[in-house]
Amino acid sequence: HAKPLAARSGTDTHCPYCALQCGMTLRRADGGDEAGGPPGLEVAERPDFPVNRGALCVKGRTATEVLAPHARLTRPLVRRSSSGELEPAEWEEALDLVAAALARTRDEHGPDAVGVFGGGGLTNEKAYALGKFARVVLGTSQIDYNGRFCMSSAAAAGTRAFGLDRGLPFPLEDVGRTDCVVLVGSNLAETMPPALRHLTELRERGGTLIVVDPRRTRTAEHADLHLAPLPGTDLALALGLLHLVVAEGGVDTGYIEARTTGWPEARSAAMAHWPELVERVTGVSVPELRRAAKLFSEAGNAMVLTARGPEQQSKGTDTVGAWINLCLATGRPGRPLSGYGCLTGQGNGQGGREHGQKADQLPGYRRLDDPAAREHVAQVWGVDPASLPGPGRSAYELLDALGGDVRTLLLAGSNPVVSAPHAAHVEQRLRSLDFLAVCDVVLSESARLADVVLPVTQWAEETGTTTNLEGRVLLRRKAVDPPAGVRTDLEVLEELAARLGWEKGFPAGPEEVFDELRRASAGGPADYSGISYRRIAAEDGVFWPCPEQTGDDGSRSPHPGTPRLFLDRFATPDGRARFVPVMHRPADEEPDEGYPLRLTTGRVLSQYQSGAQTRRVGALNEAAPGPFVELHPSLAGRLGAGEGDPLTVVSRRGRAVAPARITRGIRPDTVFMPFHWDGDGRANSLTNPALDPVSRMPEFKVCAVRVELAGPT
Ligand code: SF4
Repeated sequence: HAKPLAARSGTDTHCPYCALQCGMTLRRADGGDEAGGPPGLEVAERPDFPVNRGALCVKGRTATEVLAPHARLTRPLVRRSSSGELEPAEWEEALDLVAAALARTRDEHGPDAVGVFGGGGLTNEKAYALGKFARVVLGTSQIDYNGRFCMSSAAAAGTRAFGLDRGLPFPLEDVGRTDCVVLVGSNLAETMPPALRHLTELRERGGTLIVVDPRRTRTAEHADLHLAPLPGTDLALALGLLHLVVAEGGVDTGYIEARTTGWPEARSAAMAHWPELVERVTGVSVPELRRAAKLFSEAGNAMVLTARGPEQQSKGTDTVGAWINLCLATGRPGRPLSGYGCLTGQGNGQGGREHGQKADQLPGYRRLDDPAAREHVAQVWGVDPASLPGPGRSAYELLDALGGDVRTLLLAGSNPVVSAPHAAHVEQRLRSLDFLAVCDVVLSESARLADVVLPVTQWAEETGTTTNLEGRVLLRRKAVDPPAGVRTDLEVLEELAARLGWEKGFPAGPEEVFDELRRASAGGPADYSGISYRRIAAEDGVFWPCPEQTGDDGSRSPHPGTPRLFLDRFATPDGRARFVPVMHRPADEEPDEGYPLRLTTGRVLSQYQSGAQTRRVGALNEAAPGPFVELHPSLAGRLGAGEGDPLTVVSRRGRAVAPARITRGIRPDTVFMPFHWDGDGRANSLTNPALDPVSRMPEFKVCAVRVELAGPT
């Protein structure tokens, strides 16, 4: 194993969980770790890292516990007969079985019968290697990843408007220095608590925070104005605000003329959304709409930040597009301390979408259907561009095809049995595969269905890079040796490539992979060619794009990186941002007699995503032991339900049972469930897989349900 890179005192690294990628130091301490991690390894604050300035949430503080041997896999597991149990095995047997299954399916049914499903928590190196493995070793187009469920609508809308998507086109610290923030569908006080300090700073400076969320979340409690639209109506809300900004003369015509195209059409679309109509659609009153429009348009600097609320909809791209239009009309994007940004969710949600595990993209955020991109990347990979497959299916479509024309799947760093929409169907699809191979740290609900499980290393046991929600490329350093019996994902891919007859070598050293990634990304939108491990270590992160600069005389000079995008021009061919006209449309499923309520889903502070890691941490489980159904007292009264009574939530796809949590902080026509658990309380048994036509994002955030008092079991 590589030696840990030198650090000041202990090992400076980053949290394994969310997209904030908080800086932390892992230290050896006498007497063991109270959290139950590997003996003597403890999490310490790292106040000099600007994103979190030493603050960590409870997930980060307890993150070493997942390293403990009792919490994770330490040996490969194989299912030696279709009716048998998973049993411990040697690596050689496990790798031989996986390689044989991949080869058999590829040879008998063609390369597209093999699927690869990755994750937004994988490092840049792993995401890159997985994409390359799929396209050159397997030759399949069928690769996508769970990041599609995260921020794909914002990515699509950002690319459409600005020519480039980078979650935040400015450092997070700008949030505390602007004058007005509209936070749409983000409960960051629970999902990434250290980010809250930037909003606190904003308000302490006299700035304004507007929160848009159907629930009065912990984040909404900090707001100057909380707008609570019906789930699935954020698009109408943004259009109504733009209508009012136009009507009240708040449009920045000089900016529109100088820096944008498409305003007349976008303006017409917004003017069709009268405030009274928007009030009827969203449930947000006209006076509240007027106040929000005035606060936003009259602020000196202002920004809109979106998260999963508006994005996880079957019209997510247009919804984010409507918020972008509001920003453009008021002259925000590309100006200091202003603009539009997306708060990415997963730890490497940003980098994970830039380097080739997405169905339609090559490393460097290049389009797979761009001949020049194919030529460049094929040259780095040493293959014929014509041999590279074309774009494949999006995540849910790929999962839906399992057991049909996709017969064998390699699943890495994802737990779709819990995290995918219409999860019972996805589980059934996984069960119908000819062969399922899973690379994971823990025996997740999805890994339990596998024919072979390959136990892999995790954050503190390996070195690699992630790219946080700001586009800041970071180095997660190795701090501790992994348990015997565990290998890195990169080593697994190297072994499988060799067994599948790939003779050109498949590097397994993270720095070697990163150097190849740099070359593959050179010249692309997400250009990493000027970034190196050494530079990241010296500068504590580098913002992309950061091209390698070569002078006429061949001399090289360091590019400073790009903390702020679009200051001079947008990344479109004419340098102008594009307004895209969008119109309100209803959710895919509207309430009716059989399903009269709306369900929305989300996260809680002490669990993370599918819970595969955090449900194994004692303190987190104690704080958030299971699912619940949040509902308004008036609805609880109609049902005859008291606090803690078991409720059954039923949608057209399934049912989930969880105790009632009664609060006035939710609309009476809406219920909320967190999605971190499997079993009876699995929220994603209910959710709707209707897809956004552009981003292919499922409609996690709204579906029609009915709620009943659960009968005796
Ligand atoms: Fe980790 Fe996110 Fe918590 Fe920071 S906010 S400690 S990155 S989970």
